[in-house]
Amino acid sequence: MVKGPEADDCWLWTGAIADDGYGRFWTAGADGRQKIIRPQRYAYTAIVGRDLTPDVLILHRCDVPLCVHADLDSERSHLRPGDTSENMQDRARRGRHPRPSAALRFRDLPRAERARRSRDLRDAVLERGWDAAAIHGVLSGVNAEHPTLF
Ligand SMILES: [Zn+2]
Repeated sequence: MVKGPEADDCWLWTGAIADDGYGRFWTAGADGRQKIIRPQRYAYTAIVGRDLTPDVLILHRCDVPLCVHADLDSERSHLRPGDTSENMQDRARRGRHPRPSAALRFRDLPRAERARRSRDLRDAVLERGWDAAAIHGVLSGVNAEHPTLF
């Protein structure tokens, strides 16, 4: 994981990334079988100390799927618990109010594109550490290596 220098920067997961653009890691479950863990969920549980039932989703305020920046202070935390309907409402609300920027938010990207950007982001921070310009480039989809149509 790579943490940004500012207190409110993202903490970016640098491990495996699944096809949905979110991180994953594997651990042995109580029954000895492999258990798949989502890092943002793990981070939230570990830091906030609250167990999550399976129906609770961990949503990203920062809209960066790799971010695992949980904080006891919900104002500072980039992760917050929510449920599926809330997630949908979020999307619907944003849909009705077009953003001033042409760049799509991460969460609204097609799955494959989101996964690609997540992997680009991970590779960028692994290569250069916290490079704000490079990170911004990947997040907005305007980095030179991968030009986009918008
Ligand atoms: Zn974040």
